[in-house]
Amino acid sequence: MKIGILALQGAFIEHKYMLDKLGVESFEIRQKKDLENNMDGLILPGGESSVMGKLLRDLDLFDILKNKIENGLPVFGTCAGMILLAKEIDNDDRRHFSTMNIEVKRNAYGRQLGSFSIISDFKGIGNVEMVYIRAPYVNKVLSDDVEMLSIVEDKITAVREKNMLAVAFHPELTSDSKVHEYFINMIKENNEN
Ligand code: GLN
Repeated sequence: MKIGILALQGAFIEHKYMLDKLGVESFEIRQKKDLENNMDGLILPGGESSVMGKLLRDLDLFDILKNKIENGLPVFGTCAGMILLAKEIDNDDRRHFSTMNIEVKRNAYGRQLGSFSIISDFKGIGNVEMVYIRAPYVNKVLSDDVEMLSIVEDKITAVREKNMLAVAFHPELTSDSKVHEYFINMIKENNEN
């Protein structure tokens, strides 16, 4: 199994460390030729969705990756990665991959709660540490296919729709690898089918 990590900007290296710890091979996606690698899954890290969205287009990665996601490649978006996947963004005119039936709100927690950490339940795996940094949350799910995996203080912060997993927080910034293991299981299931 080999996972591609979008490495244009933001917190990508922490995902690599997490995958290293789990013994899963990964590579960084910085330019078009990196997409010649076979990949069983894709990680879209946290950072700034607007910057990543622009770089994805400027570097000619956008259409290729969108296509792969639409064709069922397992993808895991964290924080800005969730925004890249969302079909609707409440407070931004930009749209990116728009593959996931969710409406998100960027920087949704306001200034005072810009960053915080909480231990909360993630469906199927139990309590996990969730680090939120200028995070979005899911305002609305736009299809019954979207499964809500975590709700923190009445806000939806983790969702799955088919091959897509998106979380508003940063599991890669903790020592808890359970959410990454959840994604790896999605890849295993996909590879078996
Ligand atoms: N605020 C960022 C955005 O809107 C997301 C923050 C993050 O990824 N930690 O893209």
